[in-house]
Amino acid sequence: MDKTQKIISLCKRRGFIFPSSEIYGGFGGVYDFGPLGVELKKNIKNAWLRAMTAEENIVPLDSAILMNSKVWQASGHLTAGFSDELVECKSCHKRFKLDEIKRNKCPECGGLVTKPRKFNLMMKTFIGPVENETTTTYLRAETCQGIFVNFLNILNSMRLKIPFGVIQIGKSFRNEVNPKNFIFRTREFEQMEMEWFCSPKEANRFFDFWAEKRIKWYFDLGIKKENLRVREVPEEERAHYAQRQIDIEYHFPFGWKEIEGIHNRGDFDLSNHTKHSGEDLKYFDEETKDKYFPYIIETSAGVERSLFAFLCEAYQEIKGGRTKTTKPTKEVEILLKFHKTLAPIKVAVLPLVRNKPELAKRAKEVYQMLKPNFTCQYDELGSIGRRYRRGDEVGVIASVTCDFQTLEDNTVTIRERDSMKQIRVEISKLKEVIQKILAGEEFLKLGKIVK
Ligand code: ATP
Repeated sequence: MDKTQKIISLCKRRGFIFPSSEIYGGFGGVYDFGPLGVELKKNIKNAWLRAMTAEENIVPLDSAILMNSKVWQASGHLTAGFSDELVECKSCHKRFKLDEIKRNKCPECGGLVTKPRKFNLMMKTFIGPVENETTTTYLRAETCQGIFVNFLNILNSMRLKIPFGVIQIGKSFRNEVNPKNFIFRTREFEQMEMEWFCSPKEANRFFDFWAEKRIKWYFDLGIKKENLRVREVPEEERAHYAQRQIDIEYHFPFGWKEIEGIHNRGDFDLSNHTKHSGEDLKYFDEETKDKYFPYIIETSAGVERSLFAFLCEAYQEIKGGRTKTTKPTKEVEILLKFHKTLAPIKVAVLPLVRNKPELAKRAKEVYQMLKPNFTCQYDELGSIGRRYRRGDEVGVIASVTCDFQTLEDNTVTIRERDSMKQIRVEISKLKEVIQKILAGEEFLKLGKIVK
């Protein structure tokens, strides 16, 4: 099994990601996020929000998925700008994007393919009971259009001055011709976007500023230097609105692929929406008395794509097991070495053995105590070693065990995921100690070392 297949299987087995509508045979290019997937996604989005709002002049927006279809006319999405060139194999009738085909041959069966034709990626739907051209609209294909059409609302209600940024996280939909590579390319996904409105004179400077911030974000969350690269996108490959574009690429098991795009959109959006809506979306600078269309620097990241990158980065297999003291086994142990901020479960609470009711009762009390502060799980099934391994497999940072000593002196052991070292601490200090572990303090200094 290759690494992608192993990750897909782990994601399903441990409740991260399930294929959509699986009991009905699935639904191409759509996935559901299970309990641990929800936590992981939430942590990624929160980390993004924290990083973006740490900067000056950033405000949030939550615009609707459904919009007036004129928005998509103005944005260029209904015309050539948002189409893929599609070919069909004359033998097996599978469809592919033109750029996936070499020498007019089907990549699956080697058959000849048809001439390319345009295929629009917008997902069509109807508003109200009648289905006709006037009730047609589309599920949004990117979150940023909601920001552009609210430019004046935000500017005026928040009394902002340029430069400022609007951030938004939300679902987007694209009728991808060939969804593939698990959650890398799907038909329904989430984006984390920022649109930075600035003077045209300052656009280049801000482009570099935001590019640096966004690249650093991935490194800060544990992506290794050698697995991330930045690609300056040449003019012929750029999105229809972009004057300059860089792609942040991650080294997935299936190759280098874009996880985030940074674009200088110039005045494309505000000038086009002005033209189509008749509303003047120019900015008036009170100091210089200039009136102009602000330039827009966009940072556009996919939640699922970065989640997939963080999964690939965290995934480790240890042949023969991690613990050297026990007899080597043929088993391969899995460790998801997530960054502490991202780990979906921070703490596991375990009674040393299940069949001692006093221990289980004490462990459940500890679990209840920690639960309001950390994502926790209680686990009493199987040997303690097996439970540690189950925790490692989903990246649990700290495993708290209640043993017989707990009943005597109200102390518990904490086992730390990466070092597998253990310390003993008082239950009354447990919350504080876990907070310190998560903040990255030196583990062995936080309690009495267990030999
Ligand atoms: P690609 O070339 O891979 O189709 P794109 O250049 O069209 O992507 P953008 O329109 O720049 O992508 O979207 C910004 C981000 O949104 C991407 O970097 C990616 O993380 C995410 N994204 C776009 N399309 C998809 C998709 N079909 N599935 C999952 N994430 C996506």
